[in-house]
Amino acid sequence: MSLPARFIFLGTGTSGGVPLIACRCATCTSADPRDTRSRTAAAIEWIDPRGTPRCVLIDAGPDLHAQALRHDLWRCDAILFTHNHVDHIFGLDEVRRFNAVMQAPIDLYAEGYVLDSLRRVYKHIFDKDANVNDSFVATLIAHEVPPPPDRGAAQAIELFGMRFMPIRLYHGRLPVLGWRIEKGPELRDQTPASDPFPLAYCTDVSSIPPETWPLLEGLHTLVLDALRIRKHPTHFALDQSIDAALRIGAGQTWFVHMSHEITHAAIDPELPEGLSLAHDGLTLGSLGESGERSLAEAKARMSAAMQRLDPGAIRAQA
Ligand SMILES: [Zn+2]
Ligand SMILES: [Zn+2]
Ligand SMILES: [Zn+2]
Repeated sequence: MSLPARFIFLGTGTSGGVPLIACRCATCTSADPRDTRSRTAAAIEWIDPRGTPRCVLIDAGPDLHAQALRHDLWRCDAILFTHNHVDHIFGLDEVRRFNAVMQAPIDLYAEGYVLDSLRRVYKHIFDKDANVNDSFVATLIAHEVPPPPDRGAAQAIELFGMRFMPIRLYHGRLPVLGWRIEKGPELRDQTPASDPFPLAYCTDVSSIPPETWPLLEGLHTLVLDALRIRKHPTHFALDQSIDAALRIGAGQTWFVHMSHEITHAAIDPELPEGLSLAHDGLTLGSLGESGERSLAEAKARMSAAMQRLDPGAIRAQA
């Protein structure tokens, strides 16, 4: 039994995006599409063991609407959050469209302080009854992820054949989560080296604590923060990212959360072998022919079901 899966870099830019508003630097005026970076976020799409297409998002940043359209995302089974910064949570409102399409709530997984921020920012969602008008808001189920232990591995979240293990990273003094993502243990031995999983997603990081290094072993893919060339108090600068990536030794490392100090064509060829700059839209792995067929069929069924919906219900969701 295989589990066709792919990892999509929805966005690879830092909090202000690239181009930066009102900047005329070489990166911000570059004609290279790899120098246009929306806010860092990712999607994992796979076909579950029962043949149903699934999609999990990592973070829900302010560019989620455009990112979902670009990749024709049509469902969202869960959102895993890394931390509560604006560039990682300010697109959560957009997921109400997935609620409408799926006719189902969406599970959120985040640490307690992140859920506190979400409840404050999205009071209109979490305290819907207090809204002046009865408006169409997202339906979300919040799950608190306990802080990962100081030793050993945290309990992984199992979702439809994929496992998502929270790992501790530090973003300056802020404890944040990385996610180690792999196919269920029964599939691990059958996973070819060309498959992107196991994959660790480590954005917004300036230090990796001792307990986390063992959890970054045996990776086919590492996704790692590389903000810029100059040092920064809360993000790895490029030389620190390279050091960490070489120590971790994943089959392939892709850098994300890059600012306009990083011009793709100038930096990427200079990186050590196996290390690369990611870019928006880059996709690792594939669903295969039959997986693509299942996805297309499921989208067609969903679309037909939407047409049949009572027009009044559709108006209420406008
Ligand atoms: Zn960020
Ligand atoms: Zn610039
Ligand atoms: Zn951050």
